[in-house]
Amino acid sequence: MPESVELNKTLKILVCDDDPMVRLLARECIEAEGMLVLEAEDGLEAISAYKEHQPDLIFLDVDMPELDGLQACEQIRALPHGDSVPILIATGAEDSETIDAGFRVGATQYKTKPINWTLLGRDIRYMLKSAHAFNELKAQESRLRYLAYFDHLTDLPNRRSFVERLRKCLIDSSTQKTAVGLILIGLDNFKRVNEAIGHERGDDLLHLVADRLQTVVASLGPLASDYPGAEKHFDSSTFSMEISRLGGDEFSVIVRNPRDENHILEITECLRDKLSQPLLLNELSLVVTPSIGIAIAPQHGTAPEAILRHADAAVSAAKLEGRNRIRVFDASLEESAERDFLIEDGLRQSLEKDGFYLVYQPQVNALTGKLVGFEVLLRWRQPDHQEISPAIFIPVAERTGLITQIGDWIFRQVHGDLTGLTDVLPPEVRFSVNLSPLQFTQSNFITQLGHSLRHNELPFQMGLELTEGVIMQSGVQSLEKLFELRALGFKLAIDDFGTGYSSLSYLRQFPIDTLKIDRSFVNDIGSPDGDALIKAILGMSQAMGLETVAEGVETAAQAHFLRDNGCHVLQGFLLSRPCLLSDISNVAKMPFLTLFDNDPSAP
Ligand code: C2E
Ligand code: CA
Ligand code: CA
Repeated sequence: MPESVELNKTLKILVCDDDPMVRLLARECIEAEGMLVLEAEDGLEAISAYKEHQPDLIFLDVDMPELDGLQACEQIRALPHGDSVPILIATGAEDSETIDAGFRVGATQYKTKPINWTLLGRDIRYMLKSAHAFNELKAQESRLRYLAYFDHLTDLPNRRSFVERLRKCLIDSSTQKTAVGLILIGLDNFKRVNEAIGHERGDDLLHLVADRLQTVVASLGPLASDYPGAEKHFDSSTFSMEISRLGGDEFSVIVRNPRDENHILEITECLRDKLSQPLLLNELSLVVTPSIGIAIAPQHGTAPEAILRHADAAVSAAKLEGRNRIRVFDASLEESAERDFLIEDGLRQSLEKDGFYLVYQPQVNALTGKLVGFEVLLRWRQPDHQEISPAIFIPVAERTGLITQIGDWIFRQVHGDLTGLTDVLPPEVRFSVNLSPLQFTQSNFITQLGHSLRHNELPFQMGLELTEGVIMQSGVQSLEKLFELRALGFKLAIDDFGTGYSSLSYLRQFPIDTLKIDRSFVNDIGSPDGDALIKAILGMSQAMGLETVAEGVETAAQAHFLRDNGCHVLQGFLLSRPCLLSDISNVAKMPFLTLFDNDPSAP
């Protein structure tokens, strides 16, 4: 029978004494109790026997040559699992000093010599029993501590841990007059990624993000881990960082004793750069960019609640600014939470009370000046007739999920609006609707859309403008959806191209017809960098056989530059602002070519 099997079943007792007579007697007594005996002649042998066999209990004579029992006991306690093995030391009678010393180095129990052999076996049994109970208790306790203070998915400290640590750091920093930085990280579009790849893989992805976060932070400085109950404690007066998962897709890094504010920014920038690199999940390459908010004590508050709230506001602002951004808290952010709430409330009411309407912005062929389409844009009129920009309310609608209801309203409205235009416009004119990523991930979205906007039921060509974020989710599901949309007759455009992180070569695999160059790039035409960028985008787009639309064209010079470099379609205030449905018939007759061909600056 292989030894290991035998050893697994039987309790192993290590008897360590330099007196062979003692070892022999001990063996007899212990074996009589059905246990297995290992022997060692001195402390050194005891240690190596412990390492090799991991005995269940150690009988240790104190007085031995080489390494004595007390030293051996101390060293075994320091070995892996050495803190939980019961150790019985054998001392001279009435030697209370040695007994005390024995307990100090970790002995569990003692026996005085001469040993009462008739009782030894039974004593050992009882010791093992109580040691077992004690170890169970200890395991339960550490499990409890783990559950209380750690996130089971990523093994990072959890929110409870975080709050206690932040509180402690803030107290330390106020007595030591040092700073504490709180870096709050939210993953952009994680909800959608999660829906696209499935929750299980979403969890795997969070795990990968957590791992990467740990690697990056560890490369930047010492990682503290003195969560409540941790055995290791860190010097609270030196620079260190601490990571937690606050829940969902939210992580935090507490920076203790940074050099200055720039130091925190450097760390944050590095985090952003490293986190937004592609992650490999099974065969899938995923990009999850972070939006990061920073609050610093004492300048942004000294209470943990305030620092956390302010860092939170900074994250929201970062997301609003376009994701993969860093935002440091400032006072102006305090009002925005309240503003968001008012907007959300207003949007809900408007959904019931008809507070929305659509406007249409012409898109014109760059060479011929012919009207080729319209972008459909949402407008929101307040009860007091004030208008709020979609750039402000759309992000709120996305954050609160209201965008799906609003999106449904838009599709129904477009359908109604367009049926009245058959006499005014030729059928090849394309109407392009903006699609929020949240709408796209809705499971019933395609069916809904099929009902309200099916191309063959409408007199015009239909287009959808999707942001890079949607495309970049890259899950099989979203790829399928894109093909389905195309099959329904929609032309697909990538909106705001250049502001996201997709590369054209990556986009090649997606069924896309049109690329919309973001307004910010058009705005830069005239500067050497701006010109070069537009040329590069147009060149690549042509190479891929895509149609290009430039948005935000405001000057004839921009129109010329775009046209001369091969841009197909122009949209912008130069040609027309978005117009009401009732103005479309007038717009259709406009001589667009004259607007950019009669260039006043030309000789
Ligand atoms: P976008 O999709 O990039 O839309 C183009 C924006 O540029 C529109 O702003 C348009 O009015 C504006 N624009 C067009 N030409 C010019 C120009 O020459 N100069 C300047 N400065 N601006 C120009 P708008 O209507 O305020 O919309 C802002 C954003 O709100 C849109 O950006 C889009 O992301 C979102 N949005 C608007 N309508 C909808 C909608 O129906 N659904 C969804 N999901 N989002 C919408
Ligand atoms: Ca758009
Ligand atoms: Ca844009």
